[in-house]
Formats: sequence, structure tokens, C-alpha cells
Amino acid sequence: MAKNLTTRAEDYSKWYNELVIKADLAENSGVRGCMVIKPYGFAIWERMQAELDRMFKETGHQNAYFPLFIPKSYFSKEASHVDGFAKECAVVTHYRLKNAEDGSGVVVDEDAKLEEELIVRPTSETIIWDTYRKWVQSYRDLPLLINQWANVVRWEMRTRLFLRTTEFLWQEGHTAHATKKEALEEAEQMMHVYADFAENYMAVPVVKGTKTESERFAGALETYCIEALMQDGKALQAGTSHFLGQNFAKAFDVKFATKEGSQEYVWATSWGVSTRLMGALIMTHSDDNGLVLPPNLAPDQVVIVPIYRNDEQFDAVSEVAKKLMTELRAQGIRVKFDNRDTHKPGWKFNEYELKGVPVRIAIGPKDIEKGTVEIARRDTLQKEFISMEGVVEKVTSLMEEIQNNLFKKAINHRSEHTTEVNSYEEFKDMLKTKGGFLSAHWDGTAETEERIKNETKATIRCIPIDRKEEAGTCIFTGKPSVGRVLFAKAY
Ligand code: AMP
Repeated sequence: MAKNLTTRAEDYSKWYNELVIKADLAENSGVRGCMVIKPYGFAIWERMQAELDRMFKETGHQNAYFPLFIPKSYFSKEASHVDGFAKECAVVTHYRLKNAEDGSGVVVDEDAKLEEELIVRPTSETIIWDTYRKWVQSYRDLPLLINQWANVVRWEMRTRLFLRTTEFLWQEGHTAHATKKEALEEAEQMMHVYADFAENYMAVPVVKGTKTESERFAGALETYCIEALMQDGKALQAGTSHFLGQNFAKAFDVKFATKEGSQEYVWATSWGVSTRLMGALIMTHSDDNGLVLPPNLAPDQVVIVPIYRNDEQFDAVSEVAKKLMTELRAQGIRVKFDNRDTHKPGWKFNEYELKGVPVRIAIGPKDIEKGTVEIARRDTLQKEFISMEGVVEKVTSLMEEIQNNLFKKAINHRSEHTTEVNSYEEFKDMLKTKGGFLSAHWDGTAETEERIKNETKATIRCIPIDRKEEAGTCIFTGKPSVGRVLFAKAY
């Protein structure tokens, strides 16, 4: 299989698109901005889902499902929310088609106009808070800790596979609490859960922080986020967790009786990560040979490729390979034995390199004679022969080693691409030459943020939660600032 990928240095964005297609992750569809996620891409997403789902459950959440359609009137109830999403909504107006009178095909049946239009959910706060009104009466009904796995639609103008699509898959957590403190703690906790997942499963280092007011979710009082840095020096918002205050409770009249008997509005959070995480995974680790997957998320962690010239050799190699597969599986390792006779070993090697399988084992007649196998690592492309007795131990330790190596490489890349800048000149220069995260003083106003964005396309990615207090002056206005924020050009 020919790889022929454009290299990252030639054209990063072209490299990304080609890689997604050639590694068989996803492809464009006949529907504008909507992708087909192919089995291999979906298998990685399923692994992400499985780990996240476990983490949500371990933190006390339960899954439920709410309707795809939201009546327009619900949507209008929270003013800033509707403002934020109005420009990207898909609206259902009719419920029937009919044959055109001129025989040219089907047309919308104007007699089947909906009395109230329905919005295809761009996010589910409104339909969920309309439901929570029925579920919450007293403090005994709280907290409600609910998550939904679903698809959503946001009518994006510029789309890219996984990174920004019109329809995307995600999970959305929606929780209801008796106190502000509890809701704030929940929103913050979920940011930590996301960071834990990104770093320990995806091997993607993230900065935890809060969004500035202008970058906040529509309807939120605080947005916590995790921000990652891609290989091309652009940032990617990898996950968000919102403290919604009592905005949705007030809009949907969700009150509860306190222990003392008074009536109070409920406090809310919502949080989500999407198939965009696939883009983060690809752009953090992959190289000019294709995808590189961290073992913790690889659908196949190890693939065994048999080398043979005739049936006899194939039988002998298969026997050894199957035994090894059983032993590796007993250690909990996901192994595939590629015994297809329709493709040559060289073709398979290429394919698994392109698809980012962490470890490839080749076994041929010579290996059987010598009692060895050839092991190749995808992350470093190193190959070595090792004795058959040591294979299980070697592969087990490689799983951890590769996972750690990918994380370390990504951390190093991020450190090399995070720069403190102290003047606007330096800021602009650095953006042009190196990109990455720029840590700079800002005067705290939306106006300055907007002007910097208009002039340079860089936005404030977050106010890091662990930032030091440091008196300084805004790089743009020279006004006083209490600490640095992280700027970057972003996806
Ligand atoms: P939000 O509800 O806007 O806070 O977004 C929740 C999550 O979905 C965030 O992690 C976003 O990065 C991600 N996201 C937002 N819009 C899109 C999109 N068009 N395609 C894929 N992911 C998205």
C-alpha cells in the first residue's frame, strides 16, 4: 500500500486531511460539513467513549437520553443562550414531502407545516432543564448527575474532518445542584476528569483554565476548559465544562424546597467533549508515515504479521503466532493476527504503520529456527529481534513505554512552543515565526482581547488555573495586569 502522504512540513493541513482519509478514519459525505466515520476511526472513538464513560460513572454520573428536537419556544427562554446559538441552528419546519405535480421529484408539502418549528439540538440545556422541572421538587431530589451520549448539529461555515463538523458526536453532562458551591465544584471536577483522560489515555498534555467572558459558552457564568497544542503550533480546545449559575433554572422555573422549607432555584453545570478529540489525538502524535496511536486507545495494540512462502511455512508460523496471541491476550493486550493471504507482508507493514498500531510483530520460518521474533515500535520506528521467551514481557513493558514516550514528546513540544512575551512587537513576531502558546499580560477587557484578535487572529485560549500572581502591564494597552494569560491561534 503506497502511503504517499504530503509531509507535515510541506502542508500541515493537507497532511492532516490525507492522513484521516488514508488511515481509514473518516471521509466526507454527500452532506455538506457532515462526515462518515469509518470502522477504524469509530473503533478509536469507541475506546475514548468507554474510558470516559467509566470515569463519569466513577464520579457518580448516570446516562440518560433526551430528544433530538427542541421546540423553538424552549430555545428562546434563555436569552444569551439563544443569542449564542441562533446563527448555527438547523430548523425543522415541515413533516411531510409529496410528489411534485410536474413529476420532477419530491417537494415539501406546504400543508404539512409544523405549528411550532423544531430545532435540531446544538446542545441540550433547554430540553433537559424543561425535563428537570418535573424531576426536582425538594432538596432530596438533588443533585442530579446526568450524562448523555448523542449527536448534535451546529451549522458551521468552515468545516474540517473531526475538528469542526456540522453534525458531531459528543457527550454532554447536565447536572443540577442545591448550592452554588456544589455546582462550581462539579464544573471544576469535570475539567479535571477531562484533563486526566487527555493526558493519561490520549497522551495529550493540556492546560487547564477558565475562558474569558467573550469566549464563554452562551449562558454560562464560568467556562472551564482544557487546551492542547498541536504540532503546527495552533491550539485546540479539547473540552469544556460550564458553571451555568441559576440561569437555566430561572428560565425553566426549576425550584426546590430546601431543608428549611424555602423555595430556591437550582444551580447548574454542563460539560462536553466531542469527536474533535480524534483531531487532537491525530495532530498531537502522528508523523509523516501516518497515524501514531497511544496504546491506551489503540483498537489493536499489537499486530502479528506472518512471513511465509508456502502452506507448510504458513502452518508452522501460524501455530507460533496463535500461541503468542493467546499469551498476550491473557495479559489483557489487544492483539490481531493478520493471516490474510490476499496481501503481502510489505503491504501489511505499510498499512499498520499508516494506521498507527503501536507494536508490530513479524514471525517467519527463520525466526522459528532461531527462536526469535522481530518487534517494531510505531512511535520510534525502531526494530529489534528478541527471543521468543521474552516476547510477552517485552510487549507488556512496551505498552507503557510507548504511552509514556508519546506523552513526554508532546510535553516537550509544548514546552518548546510556549513563550513568555512582554511586548506587542514580540507577541506578533513570535506568532509569525514560531506560533504556539504565548503567555502574556492582558488588561482584562473584552475590547483589548477583540482588538488583538482582529489584528493577529490570536485569541485568549484560557486563564490558566495555576497561574502565578504577577504584576505586569498589558502588552497591548500598557494598563496594569495581575497575571499572564495564554494566547494562541486556534483551530
Ligand atoms: P461547547 O458546548 O461549545 O462548550 O462545546 C463542547 C465540546 O464540543 C467542546 O469540547 C468543543 O471543542 C466541541 N465542539 C464544539 N463545536 C464543535 C464542532 N463543530 N465539531 C466538533 N466539536 C465541536
